[in-house]
Amino acid sequence: MPTLLFRSPSDPAAAWITALRRHDPGLDIRVWPDTGAVEDIEYALIWASPDGFLHELPALRVVFSLGAGVDHLMGPEVPEGVDLVRMVDPALTEGMIEYVIYQVLRRHRHMADYERQQSAAEWRIHPQARPGERRIGLLGLGELGGACARTLSGLGFDVAGWARSSHELPGVTAVSGDDGLDWLLGRSDIVICLLPLTETTRGILNGALFARMPPGSTLINAARGQHLVEEDLLIALGEGRPGHAVLDAFRDEPLPPDHVFWHHPHVTVTPHIASLTNPETSAEAVARGIRADRAGEPIPHRVDRGRGY
Ligand code: NAP
Repeated sequence: MPTLLFRSPSDPAAAWITALRRHDPGLDIRVWPDTGAVEDIEYALIWASPDGFLHELPALRVVFSLGAGVDHLMGPEVPEGVDLVRMVDPALTEGMIEYVIYQVLRRHRHMADYERQQSAAEWRIHPQARPGERRIGLLGLGELGGACARTLSGLGFDVAGWARSSHELPGVTAVSGDDGLDWLLGRSDIVICLLPLTETTRGILNGALFARMPPGSTLINAARGQHLVEEDLLIALGEGRPGHAVLDAFRDEPLPPDHVFWHHPHVTVTPHIASLTNPETSAEAVARGIRADRAGEPIPHRVDRGRGY
């Protein structure tokens, strides 16, 4: 019987156990700190590894991440030779599509302006652009960025995307490399970051990047707080390039109550809720991964630790 150890400071263990049992009734599930005999544990489902506890599991084969991003598990906390698998799940993707579409439509249809106007009883009409006139640029065309790009294109927006490798996505102009990034930034009214956090992408949302965005454009960061150089953004917002930032992830979370972003007129803050892992649907992905491993097949969505995502 395969044995899985669950450990998370915030994800609900009871909901995960119920969902995992539904998808794999034969799974022996242990919840930290009640590990039982550690030599039985071949699988771990965790958010983070704060104290090196994974090294105390001699039979560990696979670590499943509770999140789509695995940047906090790329160091020595996951023992060498143990596979790391990130969370890819339809509900997580749907959640991100909803968040991105909502934020894009809010900017596209001037909804923030209308909400402000209502509070001042001001009747004023803004021009209504067609979606095809609104140029959107996705940084990252993976599970989440690719899905958002396809949906935005389906709504008629003029969509481009930037990735490390070349991509073919119907209705999306996909580019790569520094020249591709330059081009995408220069033409995008709304830039959306859905990159993984790696050594290459850390701090990528910085002054040099903002300087290449059109005046009055919008930045949406739904990836990681460490992608963003906060001090550079504050200067850039002062210069109107970008004109507004929608931020879901922050260098320090929770965002401290006295942080300037909370009350900045050109910043929208959400508390890292763009998309939350759903135990019911994500448990199926974990059970599928364990079945693949038992059958000696490759586990879907295994992280390339050399590449960093
Ligand atoms: P993914 O499937 O691994 O996709 C990553 C994309 O980024 C790929 O298209 C990849 O290019 C591209 N990329 C990576 N490094 C690059 C580089 N140096 N230059 C250009 N492109 C690069 O990841 P995902 O599942 O879409 O998730 C993306 C991130 O979203 C996660 O890492 C996580 O941080 C964040 N996230 C946030 C929330 C939230 O609630 N805010 C929820 C879930 C996830 P290739 O296609 O060429 O490999």
